Amino acid sequence: MSPHDSSRGPARDQRRDDRGRERGAARSRGAGQRSTSAPSARRKGTDPARSAAYDVLRQVETSDAYANLVLPPLLRERGIRARDAAFATELAYGTLRMRGRYDAIIAQCVDRPLTKIDPPVLDLLRLGVHQLLGMRVPQHAAVSETVGLARERTGAGSAQFVNAVLRTVSRTPGERWTERLAEQAPDDVTRLSVLGSHPVWITRALREALVGHGRPVDEITALLDADNTAPRVTLVARPGLTTPQELREGAQEGLAPSPARWAPTALVLPGSDPSTIPAVRDGRAGVQDEGSQLVTLALAHVDLDDGDGDSHADGPGGTGTERWLDLCAGPGGKAALLAALASDRGAHLVANELAPHRARLVERALTAVPDGTTEVRVGDGRQIGTDEPDTYDRVLVDAPCTGLGALRRRPESRWRRTPADLAVLTGLQRELLTSALAAVRPGGVVGYVTCSPHLAETRLVVDDVLRRRDDVEVLDAPAAVRAVVRPEARETIELGDRRDVQLWPHVHGTDAMHLTLLRRRR
Ligand code: SAM
Repeated sequence: MSPHDSSRGPARDQRRDDRGRERGAARSRGAGQRSTSAPSARRKGTDPARSAAYDVLRQVETSDAYANLVLPPLLRERGIRARDAAFATELAYGTLRMRGRYDAIIAQCVDRPLTKIDPPVLDLLRLGVHQLLGMRVPQHAAVSETVGLARERTGAGSAQFVNAVLRTVSRTPGERWTERLAEQAPDDVTRLSVLGSHPVWITRALREALVGHGRPVDEITALLDADNTAPRVTLVARPGLTTPQELREGAQEGLAPSPARWAPTALVLPGSDPSTIPAVRDGRAGVQDEGSQLVTLALAHVDLDDGDGDSHADGPGGTGTERWLDLCAGPGGKAALLAALASDRGAHLVANELAPHRARLVERALTAVPDGTTEVRVGDGRQIGTDEPDTYDRVLVDAPCTGLGALRRRPESRWRRTPADLAVLTGLQRELLTSALAAVRPGGVVGYVTCSPHLAETRLVVDDVLRRRDDVEVLDAPAAVRAVVRPEARETIELGDRRDVQLWPHVHGTDAMHLTLLRRRR
């Protein structure tokens, strides 16, 4: 059982009494065995898991780092493993996700605006509040360990302050804090925003997106909750390179992935370390959200129009080699799935990416795909329509977007994004979609994809681009997705009654991926 687990209770207290033994154990395991010890002026060092979580928070704040990129190497470097690594991960990610709610609580327990609290001290308070209200850490351990960390990192004076604030927070039970925050909110959106820990503008945009995409408005609470829940790791078995069965058989005992809900290529990992599976290590499989898999499979399988009165999915007239284009390919998750499918079907894929370092990631993602199937290019996707008009059979525009559909994966991103990002991104999205529609041949198909459900990035972009042309038909994307879903799930997957598809974390268990399928008329 983890030293961080609240259910340890008495055992923890006993262990606290035997600090010498405990230190030996911590040394031999290289892990945070002192995480629940009492505060003491004589104590030396702090719990490694809590220290790691704190360092992640600081890097996110000071270097604009991404927590999911910073934490894993930091845990490796410090030899923090197994349950301690899980504790550090939940502490860092959970604190980042729930920051809005915790800040509202901290604000009621201090005598100054939060902007007047030293940022490292504020991060310590957030870490402490997450242990108190968001994890099952016993109260005294949450307070004492955080105060110990404060003493070590920010000094004795601020440790006293942290102690006082956390004790005040802990005097009110979590449910009472929820009631209090709800009572104090001036309006509905603010209440949802504070309780669900999303900025007001994102809460409002998600609510509008639900309604705009045909879901009931009161699902917003479930959506915000889903954004606050760590997603399970989903694998993709790249067709032609491996199979779901091989992934299951290649896993270590007790760690075999199980089939996911919708995509036949998708598996859910019981743990969080996919690198134990050989096919993942050599690129025949990868980590990929199930929604990303579904939209990619749908684009690869939807019918082309080859002017013979028939629509089919196997190349012009069913003969020549299909040419596929991934306009914005970095870091290469969808390109790798497309490339595997292309190789299987004798098609050729051009994977284009603007940023050279991200194009290198695409190359790495494609290592297992047979030579000759793909070409990785560095270039501006906005140019391709002009440079190569009427060229490709299938074009994926996985457009740069706010990522509001993947907030559960990127714990800090909701606090970084601003409404001003939208103006820049939606302009770029229009240009990329316009370019894709020029690059696709008559009869060919474009998949417009975002990992955002924001109406300004989805429906409005497509409507606006289509208003300027009369040679494009909107295909039935729900039918295309349904056609690639596992047979036993075809009847149950909820895809709405519009022509585009909007997936949701709280409904489908995927990122909130959007897909519109467009076909150039001949
Ligand atoms: N399809 C990718 C995957 O599944 O891994 C994710 C694509 S990501 C949403 C968008 C990508 O578009 C980023 O890598 C970004 O660098 C790239 N990008 C941004 N502007 C671009 C442009 N003008 N032309 C091509 N790529 C661009």
